[in-house]
Amino acid sequence: MRYRFRNRLRDQMISWLPTPKFTGARILCFHDVQDKTAFAERMSWLKNNFSVVSLDDCFTESTDEIKVAITFDDGFRSWITNAAPVLEKYNLPATFFVNSGLVGLTGTDMQNFFKINCFRKEDHLTAISLPELQALAQHSLFDIGGHTKDHFLFSEKTDKEMLRQQIVDDKVALKKMTGLAINYFAYPFGQMIHAAPAVQEMVATAGYKKAFTIVPGAASQQTNPWTINRDSLELYQSERVWSQWLHGTYDPFVKKKIKLYERLQRSYR
Ligand SMILES: [Zn+2]
Repeated sequence: MRYRFRNRLRDQMISWLPTPKFTGARILCFHDVQDKTAFAERMSWLKNNFSVVSLDDCFTESTDEIKVAITFDDGFRSWITNAAPVLEKYNLPATFFVNSGLVGLTGTDMQNFFKINCFRKEDHLTAISLPELQALAQHSLFDIGGHTKDHFLFSEKTDKEMLRQQIVDDKVALKKMTGLAINYFAYPFGQMIHAAPAVQEMVATAGYKKAFTIVPGAASQQTNPWTINRDSLELYQSERVWSQWLHGTYDPFVKKKIKLYERLQRSYR
């Protein structure tokens, strides 16, 4: 992915700011992992500088440190080749949010899934197979979560039957595939517009315990359990940028951006 000029400028400015004293939990969101060496270096750094915990442990009693949980979205073969061996080496727990409809796809079906459902054009992407997903699910460090059947683009207009198929049926399918209780859900595309009240309601009806966006921010027991923030950081961003981000240096800017966006949305209605 390109490191856009304005993001590079933003990161450069943020890295000059003093680091705030933050304690609490942050949740990282990754997708496919192409560069195993860069991923390993950053995971080693993460382990040395933060307390890396499972999603379950993010929400237990707060401590005087920064807890970081690791999550992945969609369902890529690179989880098996590049991510899991590194996580295993450093003994780092992780949750993988999977589209049940993507598991085991190959050839044109797989390419269409990535292009049409995920808006991803890269041609190196490969879907995870069922045996690979089952191997992840059986590993004591790893957990599997729901992410809809088809990486569905929810809006406030999505009808109830579609919500049921994409959320409830997907959860049943994942349980069947992995033999695990599926407790956590991540909204495809992950912005607040994809987590409309009716979508949140169906996630609760399905029996999920918590649901996650990709809106940056801290996670705590006080956070609304149906819209828990996650930070989507990239491996090409420096350790200093990651550190600033995980300490909450970006949070005030993100909040301002969201407020501005909501005001714009209201004025267009
Ligand atoms: Zn996704």
